Amino acid sequence: MSLKVFKFGGASVKDANGVQNVAKILNAHSSKDKILTVVSATGKTTNALELVVQSYYNQDGKANEHLQSIKNDHVSIMQGLDIFNEEIAADISDTFVEIDWMIEDEVQDGFNYIYDQIVSVGELVSSKILYHRCKKEGLNVCWLDVRDVLITDNSYREAKVLWNDTQKRMDERINDLFGKFDIIITQGFIGCSTENFNTTLGREGSDFTAGIFSYCLDAESLSIWKDVPGILTADPRLFENVTKIDRLDYREAIEMTYFGAKVIHPKTIKPLQNKNIPLYVRPFNDYLSEGTLITSNVDTVYPPVIVIESGQALIHISTKDFSFVAEEHLSEIFERLDTYKLKVNMMRNTAISFSVAVQNDPKKISKLMEDLSMNYNVLKDDDLELITVRHYDDATVTRMKEGKIVLFEETFRQTVRMAVKDIPVVKRK
Ligand code: ADP
Ligand code: ASP
Ligand code: MG
Repeated sequence: MSLKVFKFGGASVKDANGVQNVAKILNAHSSKDKILTVVSATGKTTNALELVVQSYYNQDGKANEHLQSIKNDHVSIMQGLDIFNEEIAADISDTFVEIDWMIEDEVQDGFNYIYDQIVSVGELVSSKILYHRCKKEGLNVCWLDVRDVLITDNSYREAKVLWNDTQKRMDERINDLFGKFDIIITQGFIGCSTENFNTTLGREGSDFTAGIFSYCLDAESLSIWKDVPGILTADPRLFENVTKIDRLDYREAIEMTYFGAKVIHPKTIKPLQNKNIPLYVRPFNDYLSEGTLITSNVDTVYPPVIVIESGQALIHISTKDFSFVAEEHLSEIFERLDTYKLKVNMMRNTAISFSVAVQNDPKKISKLMEDLSMNYNVLKDDDLELITVRHYDDATVTRMKEGKIVLFEETFRQTVRMAVKDIPVVKRK
């Protein structure tokens, strides 16, 4: 029997039918493999929990109301799954109890710490619901608290994995559990600091959790189950006529996700590539399909692949006295970007100016601009899109520019990237 890792995201467990379908997939696979299952919070629960955090932190009196509505949503799912009895209700309400207590108290800690303590309940509850449903179906399954085995530093909201500690904990626990059970169900996205507090790995981080398990357990493969047939030539929510790519190289996958393809978290690929573990991105509504296989040395000619990152800002920084932008300026600018954790998506310099495209986070950007404006003239363009075309051809690039003003564009090897704005529609009176 081999060990496989499966990851189910929020879309796959968004309602009772979704959870039921996941149980069906696990049932179909667990007779021949041991399956470590990583699950995300249901549907948009993490967004809803963020509202609880904000309300509590701002003390606007609505935290309880937001939390109650999240609890109700989970009760409906359990009712739909026919697992809502006294014992399971008590298990779920025990899981919420720490938040109940926290939001009763005054705010005493930093935002990011509070965020991780509250938001992590989403994955704890969804994994318990899936566990109870699988158990009801007679599967040989156990529930694992990922905080016992996935150890991180205390950088709340973007915790760094402590790989040695994590490996050691997994070695101690997982084999033993697989001695008794066919399926382990655990949580994505969350971990535990060495001081025993909840941490999170960054939004959409459950894919990365699955990569971490695959690496530490030397899994035979990782399957990430999605609401799409596999990796497509563009996001089907934004483009028509997209096609599935059957095979992708690790390198291609890491580049695509780095450029902003929202289909898998960019950090997922490295641990898999390091141990040559195949990654399948597969549709949860057609569980026999292979989806896309990501592996090493794929010998194929890729079609043009489009990645869109919206909500970008372009910051133009120029010297006040017409001196050239030199290394000392760049190092000062990058130090500031690092301080505010603004990831540079694209950059360009001229003799006296330097421009960077970053995610448009108004609070961080205004702090950055304030700091830099002491020594530089600083301007900002809002509402930009970054368009990346990998393996481009001229026709695709021309299509991408229709109706757009291109603020800047760069081409390197098979890739074209451009920062664009919609052409304003001016109507004649
Ligand atoms: P999950 O909830 O399982 O984590 P996500 O919503 O995070 O799922 O990711 C799946 C979504 O990624 C798809 O519904 C699709 O809209 C989007 N997506 C973006 N780019 C691509 C792409 N190139 N191929 C497939 N899906 C893509
Ligand atoms: N639930 C988390 C989020 O929505 C993690 C994940 O889904 O990957 O960001
Ligand atoms: Mg996701």
